[in-house]
Amino acid sequence: MPKIIQLSPHVANLIAAGEVVERPASVMKELLENAVDAGATAVTAEIRDGGMTFLRVTDNGCGMLPEDAKTAFLRHATSKLRVAEDLAAIQTMGFRGEALAAIASVSRIDLMTKPTGSISGTSLSLEAGIITEESEAGCPEGTTIIIRDLFFNTPARMKFMKSDVVEGSRVTAAVQLQAIAHPEVAFRFLRDGKEVLSTPGTGKLRDAVYCVYGKDSAKMAEVESSWEGYRLTGYVSRPTDSRPSRNMQTFFVNGRPVKSRMMIAALEEAYRNRIMAGKFPACVLQLSLPANAVDVNVHPAKTEVKFLNEKAVFDCIHYGVLGALNKTPDRPNVQFKEAPAAPSVPPSPPVPPTPPVPPAPKQQSFFRTMTAAEYQAFSGAVKSAPQPSPLAAAAVAAAVERTSNMPVKEQVILPQITPPPAPEPEPIPIPVIPVPAQEPEQESLSMPEVAPWRYVGELYRSYVIVEQGEDAFIIDKHAAHERILFDKLKANQEAITGQTLLTPIPCRLDPASCGALLANQALLEELGFEIDTLGENTIVLRAIPMDLAEEDAADAVEALAADLLVGRREDKSTVRDEVLHTVACKAAIKAGWVTDEKELLALIGQVMARDDLKYCPHGRPICITLSKKQLEKQFKRT
Ligand code: ADP
Ligand code: MG
Repeated sequence: MPKIIQLSPHVANLIAAGEVVERPASVMKELLENAVDAGATAVTAEIRDGGMTFLRVTDNGCGMLPEDAKTAFLRHATSKLRVAEDLAAIQTMGFRGEALAAIASVSRIDLMTKPTGSISGTSLSLEAGIITEESEAGCPEGTTIIIRDLFFNTPARMKFMKSDVVEGSRVTAAVQLQAIAHPEVAFRFLRDGKEVLSTPGTGKLRDAVYCVYGKDSAKMAEVESSWEGYRLTGYVSRPTDSRPSRNMQTFFVNGRPVKSRMMIAALEEAYRNRIMAGKFPACVLQLSLPANAVDVNVHPAKTEVKFLNEKAVFDCIHYGVLGALNKTPDRPNVQFKEAPAAPSVPPSPPVPPTPPVPPAPKQQSFFRTMTAAEYQAFSGAVKSAPQPSPLAAAAVAAAVERTSNMPVKEQVILPQITPPPAPEPEPIPIPVIPVPAQEPEQESLSMPEVAPWRYVGELYRSYVIVEQGEDAFIIDKHAAHERILFDKLKANQEAITGQTLLTPIPCRLDPASCGALLANQALLEELGFEIDTLGENTIVLRAIPMDLAEEDAADAVEALAADLLVGRREDKSTVRDEVLHTVACKAAIKAGWVTDEKELLALIGQVMARDDLKYCPHGRPICITLSKKQLEKQFKRT
């Protein structure tokens, strides 16, 4: 038997360093968290060479007494925990007392610190965790810590480092994350002498998000909901602004950045049937809940958490986001190129102050970090932006309930497909239709007066133009009809009635597609399809869903097979949604086809009356807005 010995503190620290201090970005994260825990309101971070040779954090927090400054570098030395019970209700970012010891063991450190109200401060130097110099020093209140030559004594670790550019970018991301996590702290970040981020520390999440993600983040929908001790705030991208990856999904739990599959799933559930396949929402979501409802001590870097009640957290996020998406006035405006300024217009009389718009660099991408100068230009705009009032959780839940299960009003007879070629309908005098007065509901008593809409015409046999007050709406007739049919099919939880065909329809498909369909036969039956095989490559349709026209059935089945092959087959309700997409798409009126005006009017009636009709099931917008002002601007009438 080999003899057992207790590891020396230095070796123990090196092992801990492997967990806590993976790379410069993790060092930065720990130091910023310490600054925040120290109550700092302004923090400056700086790196050179990706943080490998030089990494500094200066804060104006509480500082440390000379004795504490030395103890801080010992393993399990912390001012944030006293007894085991404290672990059950952690309020600070740090608590393990590991970070400084771990960082110190693999670098050279200079520390300068002065507690608030003290006359003099302390200066310390350490190398590989050993204090090499210690003196009294004149320095500002707060703490400055400089980490040099990270991993100089652990060449094995050093080998795992990527280029300075890559490491530096990770540090930037770590600073951005902290800046968003703590909008109440003004962060400044310098990379190789250049300022790359500056946040105002106003305490408003929107300001911090704006500085980190750039001007397009202003388009994100605000999330604000709470119930029973759970509170969700933040911003989510609109379905049309979705991202090709999940990189822009940031979650916080009680101010701590976390990674959680469950939270991602809850977010994405809210986008179901509104977003294109392969696209992902962006978000900054902060979940606050009682400290004892979450365990943060399950991971050395504290990026994973355990919830006492996972279902409650899932619902809180799912319904909170859904409520926010349903609230957004999401009929995107027609985008014009900026009209050049009209020449020689005399200086205009005092105009109500419009907030200055930050200079938009060309080719600006969604989400780009903002510098102090840009923020300054923008901050006026932020301050004057109206703050939506918080929505009570019950209201959110109720709204969600309503929109997701709302049956399409039955008295509106939806058009069946009009196959081309059809004779052009006789020109009908343009009717002025009052806003749905057909169904006097109790609610409408308290509803604000809405201007009546007027059908103006149709463009390219695809887009319907409607005027209402000072706005024109351009509706994609196919997308709108598809959404309405989809909602109607989805609201009907029972099996969809199939119509038995007098002559079964044969569909020739590849063997994989046939296999996928046969494997899902039971599900297809629930959806109104009855299928049979006819040899290796052919499926016979004996019945098809009521809403599907016979001539579209073969195409629908082929599309369905493709969906089933690539789709998330394990989830039955997703497969059902896929089928409903296909049926709705095939059964909806088509762009390019002549549609009877009565049918169009019925369609418009629904789009104008229902706020939740925003996206077709594939995530394309249904309706865009063109305001009178926009047109006047284009024609230089303003
Ligand atoms: P933890 O943050 O888990 O307590 P650390 O090793 O990160 O452990 O820090 C050890 C202690 O050093 C902290 O508990 C705190 O008291 C002190 N400390 C670290 N950084 C600062 C700072 N910037 N300002 C004031 N005190 C600090
Ligand atoms: Mg710490």
